[in-house]
Amino acid sequence: MASDPELEVRGRLVRSLGALREMLPGSFVERQRQCGKANCRCAGGKNLHAECQLSVLQEGKPRTFHVPSALAEEARRKVGMHKRFQQAAATIGQINLRRFLRRKEEKERGTV
Ligand SMILES: [Zn+2]
Repeated sequence: MASDPELEVRGRLVRSLGALREMLPGSFVERQRQCGKANCRCAGGKNLHAECQLSVLQEGKPRTFHVPSALAEEARRKVGMHKRFQQAAATIGQINLRRFLRRKEEKERGTV
């Protein structure tokens, strides 16, 4: 059987999904902020504090979580995994849609 390039792409994508199992949904945001303490280094509006946040829908509700700096790179990486997972799922769906529509047309033409 001749190899089908679409099936090769689909197989490669499906096999890549396991590596993304630690994915996190939502958006990872890094903002600069003042803490509000009058004598802090940030009080002049320069030398601000970096704050990382995870903005995400949880049980249908928008939530924003503070991410401590020790977990920031992990969260950023895992949110990136989720984006790659979604892109892979969308591509797999489009490949399957094209294949399904080809079979549908063949059926309707009565050639199969
Ligand atoms: Zn401060």
